[in-house]
Amino acid sequence: MKQEHLKEILNIEFGLDVTNIKSLVGYETLNYRISTNEKKYVVKVYDYDLQTLEIIKGESDFQKHLVELDCEYPAPIPTRSGDDFFVYNHNKIIRCLTFLEGIFLAEVDHTDELISHFGSTLANLNIKTRDLYIPSLQAKQISWDLSNTHWSRDNLVNITEPRKRSLVDYFLLQFDNNVRPIMHQLPSQIIHNDANDWNVLCADNKVKGIIDFGDAVYSTRISEIAVALSYVIVEKEDPIHLCEQFLQAYHNTNPITEKEIDALYLFISARMCISLISSATSRRLDPSNEYISISEKGYWSLLDKWITINPIEAKNRFRTACGYAAHTPKPVSEILKLRHQNIPEALSISYNEPIHMESAALQYMYGTDGITYLDAYNNIPHVGHEHPRVVAAANAQIAKLNTNTRYLFDPLQEYSEKILAKFPAELNQVFFVNSGSAASDLAIRLSRNYTNRDQLIVMEHGYHGNTQQGIAISHYKYNSKGGKGKIKNIIEAALPNTYVDGFTNDNTTTGERYATNLINEINDHNNIAAFIAEPISGCGGQVPLAPNYLKTLYPYLKEKGILAISDEVQTGFGRLGDYFWGFEMHNVVPDIVILGKPMGNGHPMAAVVTTKKIADAFNNGMEFFSSFGGNPVSCVTGSAVLDVIEDENLQDQAKRSGEHFYKLMSKLKSKYKCIGDLRGSGLFLGIEIIDPTKKGYSPDTKLAKHIKNEMRNHNILVSTDGPYDNVVKMKPSLCFNEDNMTHVISTLENILNNIT
Ligand code: PMP
Repeated sequence: MKQEHLKEILNIEFGLDVTNIKSLVGYETLNYRISTNEKKYVVKVYDYDLQTLEIIKGESDFQKHLVELDCEYPAPIPTRSGDDFFVYNHNKIIRCLTFLEGIFLAEVDHTDELISHFGSTLANLNIKTRDLYIPSLQAKQISWDLSNTHWSRDNLVNITEPRKRSLVDYFLLQFDNNVRPIMHQLPSQIIHNDANDWNVLCADNKVKGIIDFGDAVYSTRISEIAVALSYVIVEKEDPIHLCEQFLQAYHNTNPITEKEIDALYLFISARMCISLISSATSRRLDPSNEYISISEKGYWSLLDKWITINPIEAKNRFRTACGYAAHTPKPVSEILKLRHQNIPEALSISYNEPIHMESAALQYMYGTDGITYLDAYNNIPHVGHEHPRVVAAANAQIAKLNTNTRYLFDPLQEYSEKILAKFPAELNQVFFVNSGSAASDLAIRLSRNYTNRDQLIVMEHGYHGNTQQGIAISHYKYNSKGGKGKIKNIIEAALPNTYVDGFTNDNTTTGERYATNLINEINDHNNIAAFIAEPISGCGGQVPLAPNYLKTLYPYLKEKGILAISDEVQTGFGRLGDYFWGFEMHNVVPDIVILGKPMGNGHPMAAVVTTKKIADAFNNGMEFFSSFGGNPVSCVTGSAVLDVIEDENLQDQAKRSGEHFYKLMSKLKSKYKCIGDLRGSGLFLGIEIIDPTKKGYSPDTKLAKHIKNEMRNHNILVSTDGPYDNVVKMKPSLCFNEDNMTHVISTLENILNNIT
């Protein structure tokens, strides 16, 4: 519509003598600021349809209700015939509203006083319209209504960066799981629903006006608060602090229920999520529209910050601001007492001060103590704790079909193809089981069956499982406290550890020497079925088998008909950064590979991958059956894990974070003599702690333990391992990024500073 034409309509229909028209930026409608000699107005022009017309009528009714308040709201200017709008040619709807003066909230300092006033202003608005019944707003359906977050999910794909997409997906999943089931219990009414900082006008450190009722809708009242807060807290050092100011004032004017308060953390993130999805979608449709992305940058960094805030801590601070008692966690001592009543004490608990966990998100874990722990240790949630794609895949399948491999189902076929595609061509058969232990056990059975031999070579300090057989092949267990020693048929190979070897030998030749020694030792044996080892010994203290060790040994094993088993339970699935499987690091191809831990991101699944010949030999008449192995839920879960690794480029992330570790840690190593060695690759790392005052190899168990516990006290999870328990281990989810690594290492530096 031409501006001259609009001027004419405003004159004829609204009786306004317009002297100036200026276009305003807006979302869906065309907005103008117009001036007459006396006043300024806002004019909105909409495309005509009956639904829009009814909604506009509703919006006007809502606005007309907002009188006798301390805050100004745009009021509809009636046409000469007394309507709140004019329909032009059955084609356009034209509304005229009063224009509010002021500076936008986005443009002023967010003082505590201003934010408190904002809280009480919105509270008054909500009280005033609490009992309004406006059918068109009651029935209005928009994606900006937080009751409709599932609509936005359809557009999640428009967030093109997979890591960001997963972050949004994570919060939407939490909203679906935790808020949606109780949504109907939350107070609802017609709300403004868009009190963002460009819709709120201020003067003198007070909120003076709220504009733009285009998103007004019947919805949960807490959405009103969540929307307002989600903008106010962007780029704030302590976002929760401003929430407290706002909530206290709102609650004093218009009490918020405990259920609403407890849901607020996820309502705030839900608003950020739908806004980010909306921006991504709009940008895809119109890459040049800058207005669309206005809040995007701030929201991304806020969402990154939000995930580091323990939801319990947020809830408790929100509760306290409203005068409700904070949820207090059960004392750990009480939980321990209960646990010890029915859980045997042979199961250990980490740290001097055990942590009671409530939930977790990607690389973070949330304790009931309200603390967010940066998880630098747990390797089972390989792509991140509760990764939304993995959770969604498992959820959908468990609700559909969960049976065993005696039936045909597609996920088994699909996953087996997908996992085998990650292996060299000759490794083309896969057996599915449920734990690394079961996989180790089966690997040993396969090797004994194929070779018709009994003896096994195991690696010093190796660990392969908790079953009878697992313990029998785990030097780490049978040779330690409570262990009964090596049983018949087990041959031990010394761990080719270049660091330790370097104290007495030329460690550039460790690999060849250790392999040759082993070869000499076993040369006259003719009953050896297999050699089993990890490519990097985890329980040995994150020790990569010395270069050329396997390269020297494997051809000999082949010649002797001894099968090579690579235990990739810890090293597999891209963790090493440069390699998807640990055996690739040694430039060898094993006969049998054991997979576990990260395979299902916490869902219990494991597997044995081998050659057709070895698998065929096992088909000897005795059925192999695993009740749970290869079930459809496991298959789709494993498949989602592989997809996430690929889509989020997690192998590369592991590489980058690992390189960052070496960059920062090498500086620390030259500064602190207690750091004896840095080892590992990607996100499978070890820091060997020594006593530099001693000569020769001098592991410092006590200091390593102190570091582990101090890290825990600084809210970072690491562990220790190795024969002397003096190697600080890090093996986090692959989404663990460079910033996380910097944080870990600067904390370590602080700890070391306080000792030396
Ligand atoms: N192999 C290795 C290398 C392991 O680290 C483990 C578990 N720590 C296992 C096998 C046994 O796996 P699970 O605990 O799933 O039985």
